[in-house]
Amino acid sequence: MASASAISSHAIVQRELRGGKAGSVRQFDMVAAPAEALSGRRRWAVRPAQALEPRRKMESVAATVTEEKEEVSEVSYEQLAKEMEHASPLAIIDRALEMFGDDIAIAFSGAEDVALIEYAHLTGRPFRVFSLDTGRLNPETYQFFDVVEKHYGIHIEYMFPDSVEVQALVRTKGLFSFYEDGHQECCRVRKVRPLRRALKGFKAWITGQRKDQSPGTRANIPVVQVDPSFEGLDGGAGSLIKWNPVANVDGKDIWNFLRTMDVPVNSLHSQGYVSIGCEPCTRPVLPGQHEREGRWWWEDAKAKECGLHKGNISQENSQNHAANGKGAVTVNGVSNISDIFSTQAIVNLTRPGIENLLKLENRKEPWLVVLYAPWCQFCQAMESSYVELAEKLHGSGVKVGKFRADGEQKPFAKQELQLGSFPTILFFPNHASRPIKYPSESRDVDSLLAFINALR
Ligand code: SF4
Repeated sequence: MASASAISSHAIVQRELRGGKAGSVRQFDMVAAPAEALSGRRRWAVRPAQALEPRRKMESVAATVTEEKEEVSEVSYEQLAKEMEHASPLAIIDRALEMFGDDIAIAFSGAEDVALIEYAHLTGRPFRVFSLDTGRLNPETYQFFDVVEKHYGIHIEYMFPDSVEVQALVRTKGLFSFYEDGHQECCRVRKVRPLRRALKGFKAWITGQRKDQSPGTRANIPVVQVDPSFEGLDGGAGSLIKWNPVANVDGKDIWNFLRTMDVPVNSLHSQGYVSIGCEPCTRPVLPGQHEREGRWWWEDAKAKECGLHKGNISQENSQNHAANGKGAVTVNGVSNISDIFSTQAIVNLTRPGIENLLKLENRKEPWLVVLYAPWCQFCQAMESSYVELAEKLHGSGVKVGKFRADGEQKPFAKQELQLGSFPTILFFPNHASRPIKYPSESRDVDSLLAFINALR
Protein backbone atom coordinates (compact mmCIF):
# COMPACT_ATOMS: atom_id res chain seq x y z
CA MET A 1 0.00 0.00 0.00
CA ALA A 2 1.56 3.19 -1.13
CA SER A 3 0.29 5.19 1.76
CA ALA A 4 1.17 3.10 4.72
CA SER A 5 4.55 4.48 5.68
CA ALA A 6 3.70 8.09 5.05
CA ILE A 7 0.53 7.92 7.04
CA SER A 8 1.84 5.92 9.93
CA SER A 9 4.39 8.60 10.77
CA HIS A 10 1.47 10.54 12.17
CA ALA A 11 -1.44 9.22 14.07
CA ILE A 12 -4.59 10.33 12.34
CA VAL A 13 -7.29 10.88 14.85
CA GLN A 14 -10.74 11.34 13.43
CA ARG A 15 -13.77 12.03 15.48
CA GLU A 16 -16.96 10.46 14.44
CA LEU A 17 -19.99 12.59 13.79
CA ARG A 18 -23.00 10.65 12.71
CA GLY A 19 -26.27 11.72 11.19
CA GLY A 20 -25.13 13.72 8.17
CA LYS A 21 -27.95 14.65 5.84
CA ALA A 22 -27.94 13.72 2.16
CA GLY A 23 -25.93 16.15 0.11
CA SER A 24 -24.07 17.46 3.07
CA VAL A 25 -22.08 15.60 5.62
CA ARG A 26 -19.97 16.79 8.43
CA GLN A 27 -16.30 16.69 7.82
CA PHE A 28 -14.25 14.95 10.42
CA ASP A 29 -11.61 16.81 12.26
CA MET A 30 -8.27 15.48 11.12
CA VAL A 31 -5.69 15.82 13.80
CA ALA A 32 -2.15 14.87 12.92
CA ALA A 33 -0.15 14.29 16.04
CA PRO A 34 3.46 13.26 16.46
CA ALA A 35 3.53 9.81 17.99
CA GLU A 36 5.39 10.92 21.04
CA ALA A 37 2.79 13.55 21.77
CA LEU A 38 0.12 10.89 21.84
CA SER A 39 1.69 9.22 24.79
CA GLY A 40 0.99 12.24 26.99
CA ARG A 41 -2.28 13.93 27.74
CA ARG A 42 -1.62 16.86 25.41
CA ARG A 43 -1.86 16.71 21.66
CA TRP A 44 -0.60 18.93 18.91
CA ALA A 45 -3.61 19.52 16.79
CA VAL A 46 -2.87 20.64 13.25
CA ARG A 47 -5.87 21.24 11.07
CA PRO A 48 -5.16 20.48 7.41
CA ALA A 49 -6.05 23.08 4.81
CA GLN A 50 -9.56 22.57 3.44
CA ALA A 51 -10.71 25.00 0.82
CA LEU A 52 -14.35 24.72 1.67
CA GLU A 53 -14.13 25.19 5.33
CA PRO A 54 -16.00 28.35 6.11
CA ARG A 55 -13.73 28.83 9.10
CA ARG A 56 -10.41 28.22 7.39
CA LYS A 57 -7.84 28.97 10.05
CA MET A 58 -4.82 31.10 9.43
CA GLU A 59 -3.34 30.60 12.85
CA SER A 60 0.13 29.27 13.24
CA VAL A 61 0.65 25.72 14.41
CA ALA A 62 1.56 27.08 17.77
CA ALA A 63 -1.76 28.83 18.00
CA THR A 64 -3.56 25.56 17.40
CA VAL A 65 -1.93 23.77 20.29
CA THR A 66 -4.96 22.58 22.12
CA GLU A 67 -6.15 19.91 24.43
CA GLU A 68 -8.55 17.45 22.82
CA LYS A 69 -9.90 20.16 20.55
CA GLU A 70 -13.10 18.99 18.85
CA GLU A 71 -13.90 21.60 16.27
CA VAL A 72 -15.96 20.41 13.36
CA SER A 73 -16.38 21.94 9.93
CA GLU A 74 -19.35 21.49 7.71
CA VAL A 75 -18.58 20.49 4.14
CA SER A 76 -21.28 20.72 1.50
CA TYR A 77 -20.36 18.21 -1.16
CA GLU A 78 -23.01 19.61 -3.46
CA GLN A 79 -21.28 22.96 -3.24
CA LEU A 80 -17.86 21.36 -3.61
CA ALA A 81 -19.06 19.48 -6.71
CA LYS A 82 -20.20 22.77 -8.23
CA GLU A 83 -16.92 24.43 -7.42
CA MET A 84 -14.89 21.59 -8.86
CA GLU A 85 -17.10 20.87 -11.86
CA HIS A 86 -14.49 22.28 -14.25
CA ALA A 87 -11.42 21.31 -12.28
CA SER A 88 -8.94 18.88 -13.80
CA PRO A 89 -8.96 15.25 -12.65
CA LEU A 90 -5.55 15.88 -11.16
CA ALA A 91 -6.86 18.77 -9.05
CA ILE A 92 -9.90 16.76 -7.96
CA ILE A 93 -7.88 13.74 -6.93
CA ASP A 94 -5.41 15.95 -5.13
CA ARG A 95 -8.26 17.52 -3.17
CA ALA A 96 -9.73 14.11 -2.39
CA LEU A 97 -6.43 12.72 -1.13
CA GLU A 98 -5.73 15.88 0.82
CA MET A 99 -9.09 15.72 2.56
CA PHE A 100 -9.23 12.01 3.33
CA GLY A 101 -5.65 10.80 3.53
CA ASP A 102 -5.52 7.13 4.44
CA ASP A 103 -9.32 6.83 4.60
CA ILE A 104 -9.84 7.02 0.86
CA ALA A 105 -9.06 4.49 -1.85
CA ILE A 106 -9.21 4.25 -5.61
CA ALA A 107 -11.49 1.55 -6.97
CA PHE A 108 -9.57 -0.02 -9.82
CA SER A 109 -11.23 -2.37 -12.29
CA GLY A 110 -8.19 -3.18 -14.40
CA ALA A 111 -9.27 -1.09 -17.38
CA GLU A 112 -8.58 2.48 -18.45
CA ASP A 113 -9.33 3.59 -14.90
CA VAL A 114 -5.61 3.06 -14.42
CA ALA A 115 -5.65 6.78 -15.26
CA LEU A 116 -6.87 7.38 -11.69
CA ILE A 117 -3.77 5.69 -10.34
CA GLU A 118 -1.55 7.75 -12.62
CA TYR A 119 -3.24 10.96 -11.46
CA ALA A 120 -2.90 9.95 -7.82
CA HIS A 121 0.74 9.11 -8.43
CA LEU A 122 1.25 12.55 -10.01
CA THR A 123 -0.09 14.31 -6.92
CA GLY A 124 2.86 12.96 -4.97
CA ARG A 125 0.55 12.05 -2.11
CA PRO A 126 0.24 8.54 -0.68
CA PHE A 127 -2.78 6.68 -1.96
CA ARG A 128 -4.54 3.34 -1.65
CA VAL A 129 -6.03 1.16 -4.38
CA PHE A 130 -8.49 -1.70 -4.11
CA SER A 131 -9.91 -4.11 -6.70
CA LEU A 132 -12.71 -6.63 -6.69
CA ASP A 133 -11.44 -10.02 -7.72
CA THR A 134 -14.65 -11.73 -8.76
CA GLY A 135 -12.84 -14.94 -9.68
CA ARG A 136 -14.14 -14.53 -13.23
CA LEU A 137 -11.77 -11.91 -14.63
CA ASN A 138 -9.79 -12.41 -17.83
CA PRO A 139 -6.24 -13.70 -17.42
CA GLU A 140 -5.10 -10.47 -19.10
CA THR A 141 -6.67 -8.45 -16.29
CA TYR A 142 -4.87 -10.42 -13.59
CA GLN A 143 -1.62 -9.91 -15.49
CA PHE A 144 -2.38 -6.23 -15.74
CA PHE A 145 -2.94 -5.94 -11.98
CA ASP A 146 0.54 -7.34 -11.50
CA VAL A 147 2.01 -4.90 -14.02
CA VAL A 148 0.32 -1.95 -12.30
CA GLU A 149 1.55 -3.01 -8.87
CA LYS A 150 5.11 -3.18 -10.12
CA HIS A 151 4.91 0.00 -12.20
CA TYR A 152 3.69 2.14 -9.29
CA GLY A 153 5.26 0.20 -6.45
CA ILE A 154 1.90 -0.37 -4.79
CA HIS A 155 -0.03 -3.30 -3.38
CA ILE A 156 -3.57 -3.47 -4.63
CA GLU A 157 -5.97 -4.41 -1.84
CA TYR A 158 -7.97 -7.22 -3.43
CA MET A 159 -11.46 -7.99 -2.21
CA PHE A 160 -12.85 -11.48 -2.75
CA PRO A 161 -16.41 -12.76 -2.68
CA ASP A 162 -17.61 -14.84 0.22
CA SER A 163 -16.70 -18.43 -0.67
CA VAL A 164 -19.85 -19.85 0.95
CA GLU A 165 -22.05 -17.56 -1.10
CA VAL A 166 -20.23 -18.35 -4.34
CA GLN A 167 -20.41 -22.05 -3.58
CA ALA A 168 -24.15 -21.88 -2.92
CA LEU A 169 -24.77 -19.94 -6.13
CA VAL A 170 -22.68 -22.19 -8.34
CA ARG A 171 -23.89 -25.45 -6.81
CA THR A 172 -27.54 -24.54 -7.17
CA LYS A 173 -27.53 -22.62 -10.43
CA GLY A 174 -24.34 -23.52 -12.25
CA LEU A 175 -21.44 -21.43 -13.46
CA PHE A 176 -23.33 -19.44 -16.04
CA SER A 177 -26.69 -18.72 -14.45
CA PHE A 178 -26.40 -15.06 -15.42
CA TYR A 179 -27.07 -15.97 -19.05
CA GLU A 180 -30.39 -17.47 -17.95
CA ASP A 181 -31.76 -15.16 -15.31
CA GLY A 182 -29.75 -11.97 -15.46
CA HIS A 183 -26.47 -10.80 -14.05
CA GLN A 184 -27.73 -9.20 -10.86
CA GLU A 185 -27.55 -12.23 -8.59
CA CYS A 186 -24.02 -13.18 -9.55
CA CYS A 187 -22.88 -9.56 -9.47
CA ARG A 188 -24.40 -9.19 -6.03
CA VAL A 189 -22.36 -12.12 -4.71
CA ARG A 190 -19.13 -11.51 -6.57
CA LYS A 191 -19.03 -7.72 -6.73
CA VAL A 192 -21.54 -5.76 -4.71
CA ARG A 193 -21.14 -7.49 -1.35
CA PRO A 194 -17.34 -7.49 -1.51
CA LEU A 195 -17.50 -3.83 -2.47
CA ARG A 196 -19.80 -3.13 0.45
CA ARG A 197 -17.31 -4.80 2.77
CA ALA A 198 -14.42 -2.87 1.26
CA LEU A 199 -16.13 0.49 1.57
CA LYS A 200 -16.91 -0.11 5.22
CA GLY A 201 -13.17 0.36 5.72
CA PHE A 202 -13.04 3.85 4.15
CA LYS A 203 -14.61 7.25 4.47
CA ALA A 204 -14.37 8.01 0.77
CA TRP A 205 -13.64 6.30 -2.51
CA ILE A 206 -12.56 7.34 -5.97
CA THR A 207 -14.22 5.89 -9.03
CA GLY A 208 -13.55 6.04 -12.76
CA GLN A 209 -17.16 6.74 -13.69
CA ARG A 210 -17.60 9.00 -16.69
CA LYS A 211 -20.71 10.60 -18.05
CA ASP A 212 -20.01 9.37 -21.56
CA GLN A 213 -19.77 5.72 -20.47
CA SER A 214 -23.50 5.30 -20.13
CA PRO A 215 -25.71 8.17 -21.19
CA GLY A 216 -28.63 6.37 -19.58
CA THR A 217 -27.23 5.96 -16.10
CA ARG A 218 -24.22 8.22 -15.75
CA ALA A 219 -25.26 11.44 -17.44
CA ASN A 220 -25.60 13.38 -14.20
CA ILE A 221 -22.82 12.14 -11.99
CA PRO A 222 -21.09 14.95 -10.11
CA VAL A 223 -17.35 15.03 -9.50
CA VAL A 224 -17.99 14.47 -5.81
CA GLN A 225 -21.08 13.40 -3.92
CA VAL A 226 -22.32 11.80 -0.77
CA ASP A 227 -22.53 8.16 -1.78
CA PRO A 228 -26.21 7.40 -2.33
CA SER A 229 -25.86 3.62 -1.94
CA PHE A 230 -23.07 2.55 0.34
CA GLU A 231 -21.92 3.23 3.88
CA GLY A 232 -18.43 4.09 4.97
CA LEU A 233 -16.34 3.43 8.02
CA ASP A 234 -18.54 5.38 10.40
CA GLY A 235 -21.75 3.74 9.24
CA GLY A 236 -25.09 5.22 8.39
CA ALA A 237 -26.38 7.42 5.61
CA GLY A 238 -23.93 10.06 4.49
CA SER A 239 -20.93 8.28 5.95
CA LEU A 240 -19.20 7.74 2.61
CA ILE A 241 -18.06 10.26 0.03
CA LYS A 242 -17.72 9.25 -3.59
CA TRP A 243 -15.32 11.09 -5.87
CA ASN A 244 -15.74 10.83 -9.63
CA PRO A 245 -12.78 12.88 -10.85
CA VAL A 246 -13.11 11.91 -14.52
CA ALA A 247 -16.89 12.36 -14.65
CA ASN A 248 -16.58 15.12 -17.24
CA VAL A 249 -13.73 13.65 -19.24
CA ASP A 250 -14.31 11.99 -22.62
CA GLY A 251 -13.04 8.48 -23.13
CA LYS A 252 -10.75 9.67 -25.91
CA ASP A 253 -9.16 12.23 -23.59
CA ILE A 254 -8.49 9.52 -21.04
CA TRP A 255 -6.72 7.58 -23.75
CA ASN A 256 -4.74 10.65 -24.84
CA PHE A 257 -3.66 11.05 -21.23
CA LEU A 258 -2.64 7.39 -20.90
CA ARG A 259 -0.64 7.57 -24.13
CA THR A 260 1.01 10.86 -23.24
CA MET A 261 2.03 9.63 -19.82
CA ASP A 262 3.10 6.22 -21.17
CA VAL A 263 0.87 4.44 -18.69
CA PRO A 264 0.65 0.63 -18.99
CA VAL A 265 -2.76 -0.58 -20.17
CA ASN A 266 -4.67 -3.85 -20.15
CA SER A 267 -3.77 -5.84 -23.27
CA LEU A 268 -7.47 -6.61 -23.79
CA HIS A 269 -7.89 -3.08 -25.11
CA SER A 270 -5.80 -3.96 -28.15
CA GLN A 271 -8.24 -6.83 -28.82
CA GLY A 272 -11.23 -4.52 -29.13
CA TYR A 273 -12.37 -4.43 -25.53
CA VAL A 274 -13.34 -1.00 -24.27
CA SER A 275 -15.27 -1.61 -21.06
CA ILE A 276 -13.66 -4.48 -19.15
CA GLY A 277 -15.40 -6.60 -16.54
CA CYS A 278 -15.67 -10.32 -15.96
CA GLU A 279 -14.64 -12.65 -18.77
CA PRO A 280 -18.04 -14.27 -19.40
CA CYS A 281 -19.85 -10.93 -19.33
CA THR A 282 -17.59 -8.74 -21.43
CA ARG A 283 -16.86 -8.83 -25.12
CA PRO A 284 -15.13 -6.59 -27.63
CA VAL A 285 -17.21 -4.00 -29.42
CA LEU A 286 -17.09 -2.98 -33.04
CA PRO A 287 -16.10 0.50 -34.19
CA GLY A 288 -19.04 2.81 -33.57
CA GLN A 289 -20.63 0.60 -30.94
CA HIS A 290 -21.06 2.05 -27.50
CA GLU A 291 -18.72 0.53 -24.93
CA ARG A 292 -21.60 -0.62 -22.72
CA GLU A 293 -22.82 -2.81 -25.60
CA GLY A 294 -19.91 -5.05 -24.73
CA ARG A 295 -21.35 -5.74 -21.27
CA TRP A 296 -24.24 -8.17 -20.51
CA TRP A 297 -25.17 -7.97 -24.17
CA TRP A 298 -27.78 -10.74 -23.87
CA GLU A 299 -29.93 -8.54 -21.65
CA ASP A 300 -32.29 -5.81 -22.78
CA ALA A 301 -31.36 -2.18 -22.58
CA LYS A 302 -31.62 -1.48 -18.93
CA ALA A 303 -29.52 0.03 -16.26
CA LYS A 304 -26.33 -1.74 -17.29
CA GLU A 305 -24.80 -1.29 -13.90
CA CYS A 306 -23.52 -4.24 -11.93
CA GLY A 307 -24.74 -2.64 -8.72
CA LEU A 308 -21.52 -0.85 -7.91
CA HIS A 309 -23.04 2.46 -8.95
CA LYS A 310 -26.70 1.69 -8.58
CA GLY A 311 -27.27 5.01 -6.85
CA ASN A 312 -26.99 6.57 -10.31
CA ILE A 313 -30.31 5.07 -11.20
CA SER A 314 -32.60 5.83 -8.32
CA GLN A 315 -31.16 9.24 -7.77
CA GLU A 316 -31.59 10.27 -11.35
CA ASN A 317 -35.08 8.96 -11.53
CA SER A 318 -36.26 10.94 -8.60
CA GLN A 319 -34.46 13.99 -9.92
CA ASN A 320 -36.02 13.56 -13.35
CA HIS A 321 -39.46 13.35 -11.92
CA ALA A 322 -38.96 16.29 -9.68
CA ALA A 323 -37.60 18.25 -12.61
CA ASN A 324 -40.51 17.26 -14.79
CA GLY A 325 -42.87 18.55 -12.19
CA LYS A 326 -45.29 15.71 -12.87
CA GLY A 327 -47.91 14.84 -10.36
CA ALA A 328 -47.59 11.60 -8.44
CA VAL A 329 -50.13 8.86 -9.13
CA THR A 330 -50.69 5.28 -8.06
CA VAL A 331 -51.14 2.74 -10.82
CA ASN A 332 -51.97 -0.94 -10.36
CA GLY A 333 -51.56 -0.50 -6.65
CA VAL A 334 -47.87 0.29 -6.72
CA SER A 335 -45.81 3.22 -5.57
CA ASN A 336 -46.87 6.82 -6.13
CA ILE A 337 -44.76 8.26 -8.78
CA SER A 338 -45.79 10.22 -11.80
CA ASP A 339 -47.11 8.10 -14.63
CA ILE A 340 -45.75 8.20 -18.17
CA PHE A 341 -47.08 7.47 -21.69
CA SER A 342 -50.14 9.52 -20.79
CA THR A 343 -51.95 10.24 -24.02
CA GLN A 344 -55.35 9.29 -25.39
CA ALA A 345 -53.66 7.39 -28.22
CA ILE A 346 -52.27 4.85 -25.71
CA VAL A 347 -54.66 2.48 -23.95
CA ASN A 348 -53.91 1.98 -20.28
CA LEU A 349 -54.38 -1.76 -19.77
CA THR A 350 -55.34 -3.10 -16.39
CA ARG A 351 -54.45 -6.61 -15.26
CA PRO A 352 -57.78 -8.09 -16.48
CA GLY A 353 -57.34 -6.15 -19.72
CA ILE A 354 -53.97 -7.60 -20.55
CA GLU A 355 -55.06 -11.06 -19.38
CA ASN A 356 -57.90 -10.87 -21.89
CA LEU A 357 -55.50 -9.82 -24.59
CA LEU A 358 -53.34 -12.81 -23.76
CA LYS A 359 -56.24 -15.24 -23.91
CA LEU A 360 -57.54 -14.14 -27.31
CA GLU A 361 -56.37 -16.17 -30.26
CA ASN A 362 -58.19 -14.12 -32.86
CA ARG A 363 -57.87 -10.48 -32.04
CA LYS A 364 -59.77 -7.90 -34.00
CA GLU A 365 -56.69 -5.75 -34.20
CA PRO A 366 -53.04 -6.33 -33.46
CA TRP A 367 -51.66 -4.61 -30.36
CA LEU A 368 -48.36 -3.13 -29.42
CA VAL A 369 -47.98 -2.97 -25.64
CA VAL A 370 -45.17 -1.61 -23.54
CA LEU A 371 -44.56 -3.18 -20.12
CA TYR A 372 -43.16 -0.33 -18.13
CA ALA A 373 -42.36 1.18 -14.77
CA PRO A 374 -42.71 4.95 -14.56
CA TRP A 375 -39.58 5.27 -12.41
CA CYS A 376 -37.45 3.47 -15.00
CA GLN A 377 -35.27 5.92 -16.85
CA PHE A 378 -35.25 3.83 -20.00
CA CYS A 379 -39.04 3.93 -20.05
CA GLN A 380 -38.86 7.67 -19.52
CA ALA A 381 -36.32 7.94 -22.32
CA MET A 382 -38.63 6.25 -24.82
CA GLU A 383 -41.74 8.14 -23.75
CA SER A 384 -41.70 10.71 -26.52
CA SER A 385 -41.07 8.19 -29.32
CA TYR A 386 -43.73 5.82 -28.02
CA VAL A 387 -46.27 8.61 -27.76
CA GLU A 388 -45.38 9.78 -31.26
CA LEU A 389 -45.73 6.23 -32.55
CA ALA A 390 -49.13 5.83 -30.91
CA GLU A 391 -50.33 9.06 -32.44
CA LYS A 392 -49.08 7.96 -35.86
CA LEU A 393 -50.82 4.60 -35.56
CA HIS A 394 -54.07 6.08 -34.30
CA GLY A 395 -56.83 4.87 -36.61
CA SER A 396 -54.45 2.62 -38.57
CA GLY A 397 -55.83 -0.64 -37.22
CA VAL A 398 -52.98 -1.20 -34.77
CA LYS A 399 -53.77 -0.53 -31.12
CA VAL A 400 -51.08 0.80 -28.83
CA GLY A 401 -51.21 0.12 -25.13
CA LYS A 402 -49.24 0.19 -21.92
CA PHE A 403 -49.23 -2.01 -18.86
CA ARG A 404 -47.50 -0.98 -15.69
CA ALA A 405 -45.64 -4.15 -14.73
CA ASP A 406 -43.64 -3.30 -11.63
CA GLY A 407 -44.56 -3.92 -8.01
CA GLU A 408 -47.13 -6.64 -7.44
CA GLN A 409 -47.61 -7.11 -11.20
CA LYS A 410 -44.00 -8.05 -11.79
CA PRO A 411 -44.18 -11.81 -11.08
CA PHE A 412 -47.18 -12.12 -13.41
CA ALA A 413 -45.45 -10.06 -16.09
CA LYS A 414 -42.30 -12.14 -15.81
CA GLN A 415 -44.15 -15.41 -16.01
CA GLU A 416 -46.79 -14.59 -18.59
CA LEU A 417 -45.48 -11.63 -20.53
CA GLN A 418 -41.79 -12.38 -21.01
CA LEU A 419 -40.80 -9.40 -18.90
CA GLY A 420 -37.03 -9.35 -18.56
CA SER A 421 -36.41 -5.71 -17.80
CA PHE A 422 -38.13 -2.40 -18.31
CA PRO A 423 -39.27 -1.49 -20.84
CA THR A 424 -40.38 -4.69 -22.57
CA ILE A 425 -42.36 -4.16 -25.76
CA LEU A 426 -44.76 -6.85 -27.00
CA PHE A 427 -46.60 -7.25 -30.25
CA PHE A 428 -49.87 -9.21 -30.09
CA PRO A 429 -50.63 -10.29 -33.68
CA ASN A 430 -54.19 -10.92 -34.91
CA HIS A 431 -53.77 -14.62 -35.11
CA ALA A 432 -51.38 -15.93 -32.52
CA SER A 433 -51.86 -16.59 -28.88
CA ARG A 434 -48.35 -15.70 -27.81
CA PRO A 435 -47.12 -12.12 -28.02
CA ILE A 436 -43.82 -11.44 -29.78
CA LYS A 437 -41.18 -9.59 -27.84
CA TYR A 438 -39.41 -6.67 -29.49
CA PRO A 439 -35.80 -7.81 -29.58
CA SER A 440 -33.94 -4.55 -30.07
CA GLU A 441 -32.74 -1.76 -27.85
CA SER A 442 -33.53 0.84 -30.53
CA ARG A 443 -36.79 2.41 -29.49
CA ASP A 444 -37.11 5.22 -31.99
CA VAL A 445 -40.32 5.55 -33.99
CA ASP A 446 -38.88 4.14 -37.23
CA SER A 447 -37.44 1.03 -35.58
CA LEU A 448 -40.69 0.30 -33.78
CA LEU A 449 -42.70 0.86 -36.97
CA ALA A 450 -40.41 -1.53 -38.86
CA PHE A 451 -41.03 -4.15 -36.16
CA ILE A 452 -44.81 -3.73 -36.43
CA ASN A 453 -44.79 -3.76 -40.22
CA ALA A 454 -42.75 -6.95 -40.26
CA LEU A 455 -45.36 -8.73 -38.18
CA ARG A 456 -48.78 -7.29 -38.94
S1 SF4 B 1 -20.03 -9.51 -14.41
FE1 SF4 B 1 -20.82 -11.58 -14.83
S2 SF4 B 1 -19.41 -13.07 -13.90
FE2 SF4 B 1 -18.95 -11.00 -13.10
S3 SF4 B 1 -20.04 -10.91 -11.21
FE3 SF4 B 1 -21.40 -10.00 -12.75
S4 SF4 B 1 -22.63 -11.69 -13.59
FE4 SF4 B 1 -20.95 -12.59 -12.37
